[in-house]
Amino acid sequence: MLTTNPFTEEHELLRQSVRKFIEKEITPYVEEWEKNNICSRDVFRKMGEHGFFGVTFPEKYAGSGMDFWSAVVITEEMAHANIAGLAMSLYAHTYLPLPLINALGTEEQKNKYLAPALKGEKIAALGITEPGAGSDVAGIITTAKNMGDHYLINGSKTFITNGTMADFVVLAVRTGEDNLSLLILDKETKGFSAIPIHNKLGMHTSDTAQLFFENCKAPKSCLIGEEGHGFYYIMNNFQEERLLAAVTGTFIADWALKKAKQYTMERQAFGRPISKFQVIRHKLAQMAVTVEACRSISYRAVAEFIEKGSNAVEIVTMAKAFTSEECMKVINDALQLHGGVGYMEDYGLARAWRDARLLTVGAGTTQIMHEILGKLILDEVNYQNNLQKRQ
Ligand SMILES: Cc1cc2nc3c(=O)[nH]c(=O)nc-3n(C[C@H](O)[C@H](O)[C@H](O)COP(=O)(O)OP(=O)(O)OC[C@H]3O[C@@H](n4cnc5c(N)ncnc54)[C@H](O)[C@@H]3O)c2cc1C
Repeated sequence: MLTTNPFTEEHELLRQSVRKFIEKEITPYVEEWEKNNICSRDVFRKMGEHGFFGVTFPEKYAGSGMDFWSAVVITEEMAHANIAGLAMSLYAHTYLPLPLINALGTEEQKNKYLAPALKGEKIAALGITEPGAGSDVAGIITTAKNMGDHYLINGSKTFITNGTMADFVVLAVRTGEDNLSLLILDKETKGFSAIPIHNKLGMHTSDTAQLFFENCKAPKSCLIGEEGHGFYYIMNNFQEERLLAAVTGTFIADWALKKAKQYTMERQAFGRPISKFQVIRHKLAQMAVTVEACRSISYRAVAEFIEKGSNAVEIVTMAKAFTSEECMKVINDALQLHGGVGYMEDYGLARAWRDARLLTVGAGTTQIMHEILGKLILDEVNYQNNLQKRQ
């Protein structure tokens, strides 16, 4: 059980340095990136130079080998700065494709892709979703035909974060009727193209794209792990992404609550600050309870993930399902408590609202989280075992 503060002095030093970095290198540019629908490559380079991408990765590949709480620290600071669009780009680089290369890649792949990506010299993306296959990963139809000394790739991907910026993409492809595999594809590969998608509701700073593969030749050395094991690798790789989504939602909600608290104490109506109305105080109280519940389940999930790795799937899935829905209620209420100005861009609530709306869709929809949980809960033996272990 998690009863103590999980953060050490080292984590708090990291927090200070991330906070300073955000103030200097991110906040002044966010408006411009939001308008451009993309951030600068420079911010990746600087994040890498400061070692922020590598906190949980091995020192051998330019990481610093800290525990997963360090990734939580960075995520909390990004969420508190209300820059979810940029954060998504940075996480889609670090915690989607790179754990796969770290866990399953060859030495050559780690030196060629993992280390430069952690240094911020190369940008990475993960390409799974296709126009006809999102939740249903097994429905992927982009093919990689084994041609002896290389793979021949044909097909397309959609909604890929960092799609136009990426120097390489970890790609889920069909290598047989019943099997999927993961390949690393270089941007320079002939036949590979990317078209930006600019009509998103939110997350405007993050680059989203459609990818196309027309007779792309990829050398055999680009295969990650074993051919035909891709589905299993993909399913195993979701936990970090879902945890960070849970932490992001929790701390955007926490930020929104703080804004609402301050605004309701300052805003006058009917001759008094609106926080003096009981209905507003009670709303703030409900929001605070929700934020605390989100924080508790997220931290519990992180602690269990550190202990059990991908075997913590049940609590991680619960955290993702719960926080993504609940944080939206808090942000929505915070916007409401701001009245008309909440609907304007000036107070940041509008951006937080449209950015956070992605959280019930990305990294696996709420319905898919419930599907996973439903199956685990109906597996009585597993469920009782997990309940006992948590008591
Ligand atoms: C901004 C953005 C960035 C993204 N970045 C990436 C990325 O970097 N890489 C990547 O690979 N993908 C990315 N995605 C894709 C994202 O992971 C998918 O959109 C998501 O998994 C849902 O898939 P879908 O859009 O095909 O929806 P669908 O799977 O078509 O779902 C439609 C609806 O049906 C429901 N549904 C589906 N199956 C079931 C079921 N079995 N039971 C009950 N309900 C069900 C869903 O919950 C949903 O409500 C991104 C998406 C967005 C919007």
